[in-house]
Amino acid sequence: MEEGVHGEEFPRAPLFHSYLMGYAGEELQDNHWQTIDEVRTEASVCCRCNLCYTRTNVVFGCGAVPSRLMVVGEGPGAEEDKEATPFVGRAGRLLDQIFLKSGIRREDMWITNIVRCRPTAKEGETVRNRAPRSPEITACNIWMEQEYRFVSPSVVICLGAVPAQALIGRGFRIGEGRGALHNGRRGIPTTATYHPAYVLRLRGPDRARIEGLMIKDFRMAAEHMAAEGTQK
Ligand code: SF4
Repeated sequence: MEEGVHGEEFPRAPLFHSYLMGYAGEELQDNHWQTIDEVRTEASVCCRCNLCYTRTNVVFGCGAVPSRLMVVGEGPGAEEDKEATPFVGRAGRLLDQIFLKSGIRREDMWITNIVRCRPTAKEGETVRNRAPRSPEITACNIWMEQEYRFVSPSVVICLGAVPAQALIGRGFRIGEGRGALHNGRRGIPTTATYHPAYVLRLRGPDRARIEGLMIKDFRMAAEHMAAEGTQK
């Protein structure tokens, strides 16, 4: 049994056919889904990991398909869980400002998370967000792969170390690896920058400095796309 955020007990998440066949067995072919909307529909009832017991909604990615740029965060927060849309809370609003200053439009990208249900932890009576765990990321990988397939990005930007370690490499550290493109999943140039939720916890000069670095990182990705000339 697993303990939920309210102290309740849940059975272990059911290992559905598509989990075993789709991720572990790789027997589910890519052409199982013909469109991203078909993927979204199937993901909306996903219970491949225990996050399905505490979520309100599955928060699938959204944006342009295909898109040259894919942005990948850690996981939905409370507002995203309620609205079923990624990055609509305070962190999302900060991210929109950073996009604006970087000359990138949200409607031109695909934005998603490495897990699609809100990971939570209980502190006393308070339910807070937490980082997704490795088995949750692994279980959710089937949807990540389909987003890669349909979005077909030229550049991927990870927000925070958690998606970066999943999509670039286990040892990735933001402080050391940001500011450069790496060979990411599927051989796609991939970088990482700070998560906006981290920036929201900073004050004064530290916050201005980190926001400046994020803008620099997004501009670097935009310049790479422009240089490639791979307009989609
Ligand atoms: S986090 Fe991903 S794998 Fe887990 S239940 Fe949600 S959609 Fe399914």
